[in-house]
Amino acid sequence: MLTDELTYLKGVGPRRAEFLRKQGIINCRDLLYHFPRRYLDRTTTKYVRDLGRDDYEATIIGTLVSLKEVTTKRHRRRLEGSLQDEWGGTLKLVWFSNYTWVLQVYKVGERLAVWGRLNFSRYGVSLPHPEMDRVDATAALSTGRIIALYPGGRGYTRFGLSSRTFRRILYNLIKTRGTQMPPEILPQELVAKHDLLNWRTALRAMHFPRSQQELSAARHRLKFEELFLLQMLLLNARRNRSRQVSTRLAPKNAHLDRFLASLPFSLTNGQWQALQDIQADASSGFQMNRLLQGDVGSGKTVVAVAALLLAVGAGMQGAIMAPTEVLAEQHHRTVLNQVDPMQVRVRFLVGGQRKRERERILADIAMGQADIVIGTHAIFQEKVRFRNLAMAVIDEQHRFGVEQRAMLQEKGTNPHILLMTATPIPRSLALTVYGDLDLSLIRELPAGRKPIRTHLLSEKRRPEMMDRVRREVKQGRQAYVIYPQVEESEKTDLKDAETGFGLLSKAFADYEVDLVHGKMASLEKEMAMERFKAGETDILVATTVIEVGIDAPNATMIVIEHAERFGLSQLHQLRGRVGRGAHASQCILMADYRQTPEAKERLRTLTQTTDGFEISDRDLQIRGSGDFFGTRQHGLPALKVADVANDVKLLEDARAAAEDLFEADPNLEHKAHRLLLWYFETFVGSRVGHLFRVG
Ligand code: ADP
Ligand code: MG
Repeated sequence: MLTDELTYLKGVGPRRAEFLRKQGIINCRDLLYHFPRRYLDRTTTKYVRDLGRDDYEATIIGTLVSLKEVTTKRHRRRLEGSLQDEWGGTLKLVWFSNYTWVLQVYKVGERLAVWGRLNFSRYGVSLPHPEMDRVDATAALSTGRIIALYPGGRGYTRFGLSSRTFRRILYNLIKTRGTQMPPEILPQELVAKHDLLNWRTALRAMHFPRSQQELSAARHRLKFEELFLLQMLLLNARRNRSRQVSTRLAPKNAHLDRFLASLPFSLTNGQWQALQDIQADASSGFQMNRLLQGDVGSGKTVVAVAALLLAVGAGMQGAIMAPTEVLAEQHHRTVLNQVDPMQVRVRFLVGGQRKRERERILADIAMGQADIVIGTHAIFQEKVRFRNLAMAVIDEQHRFGVEQRAMLQEKGTNPHILLMTATPIPRSLALTVYGDLDLSLIRELPAGRKPIRTHLLSEKRRPEMMDRVRREVKQGRQAYVIYPQVEESEKTDLKDAETGFGLLSKAFADYEVDLVHGKMASLEKEMAMERFKAGETDILVATTVIEVGIDAPNATMIVIEHAERFGLSQLHQLRGRVGRGAHASQCILMADYRQTPEAKERLRTLTQTTDGFEISDRDLQIRGSGDFFGTRQHGLPALKVADVANDVKLLEDARAAAEDLFEADPNLEHKAHRLLLWYFETFVGSRVGHLFRVG
């Protein structure tokens, strides 16, 4: 019954079924997992009279007493409604655009639940673009029932799929077919051990809870189930991968020895350990899939070069991919400097190279005339054929998607893969998005680095910022000034790099000020970066093109304009551009006075810590989950009930449980696991990206 299509279900029919299919709700099982977005009862709704300015969001139930289109003084049209609650309080509802459907669907006199972000002004409280749903008169809240509201919006409403309809369809489904469902799909042992509500009960309770306690037991159960199935998926993928045969690369060779001996510094412990991990993987005969995680400036590049030389030493090819041309170019130079004396042949491949040049490079790669290939996304293209790619490094891998990992797979004979990221991965993500990889960690920065001080300044302290920049450049140091956009725009009143460049050029007339941004030709960008790295430029005005990886140790100051506009990880990355040399560095965050609570929280976090791990944990908490970090982007199913940022303990339990399961019964052949296997293959395994597919 779980796999039954929806068309013949009471209350659905072909049109609705087709619409639901587009939303990814294909069969009865999907419908049961189409969970309410929120629940109404006496404790979750408010009366208008009780609303205060500290109420950010609210749900109100009342009668729609008016709904009409009006024209404002400025000749703009909009839709206004008024909702009256049982105490006579009225809440104004406003739509500024796209509201025709509202007029078609809702009528004055109807009893509705509305919710959304409140807006307070001197005219009172209003709710712009509310989410709404009908509330049955019979479902009187005073009886203490909890009522489920489902995800809705224009599309759903057009097909008459209001919460009331969903409740009716689900009620029929559960009543008439619910008994055909097995009471439990997880192994009984697991259910007992973790004290879980049984499956059938939990699904009923999600849609028709009898009490808040029952609801939370149901949620807990379904969270566990969701995380457990995810872990089964990941462990499976990992197992499949670790069986992939790959070239055996000797852990030592002359090239590598020479390279390590030539370094002007000694490796940190973390770098050594990472290298040892890589040597062990690459010589195992099976494919390496390793994630190297180390904060900005921790020296991942050296480890990457060493990994590439493992391939070169074996007479095979290595490749390193960077997310931007600027960064690829930087790697190109670093690698050339380091391996040129050894007659290692390095080729550089990016988009926009001349046809002749490109063809020559492609031929070199195909014929094995290139030992190391450095470049951007261009390397993934189909036309790029390697003779014998044995080691592929992806730098700043969080900027790439899974597809690229998969494409790489097709480039050679299962090359060893080293992914690198400066975004520290909180435990929760290490267990999910990266749960199928092995992990190496560089925890420390090279010795002698000075901590970066971070200051948060408001607009009126701009002169202070200018003074600080002046002090740095006077001492021969260099500064970055970062803007959120390239040029002036009518749509926003944000400061932009071009205008900033003009202003700073004037203010610092006796210094060299330069500009780099994403709309410049790549040669121009490279030259600007080179001049800055060579110390010819004092102040570099830039957009986030410099975000990743740029290494200029004499830069000791970074100013970020409109810091409130950037994400926490991004700010951390940007800040990581300084603090790379022997001199103390500082980061100045210029923030607009209008900030969302989240932005305030981000900026505060940044001034409090430079620890990337702490920052990434905070980042995840501030952003909350939803489609956290985009599980979908990583080819994993989206999570519906669990929230990896806040359910870490449950996540770890689920991981352990899945590990135990595979340990006891690797192919799920026991009778007690038969149903689980069927369920897993039917509803989980078959729906995910090929990287994670079972078998
Ligand atoms: P990231 O991990 O951010 O990619 P990089 O590889 O760009 O860091 O290294 C940052 C800087 O630190 C480079 O200038 C590099 O030469 C230097 N470096 C790397 N390892 C060490 C070390 N063990 N001791 C001192 N400096 C190092
Ligand atoms: Mg780097």
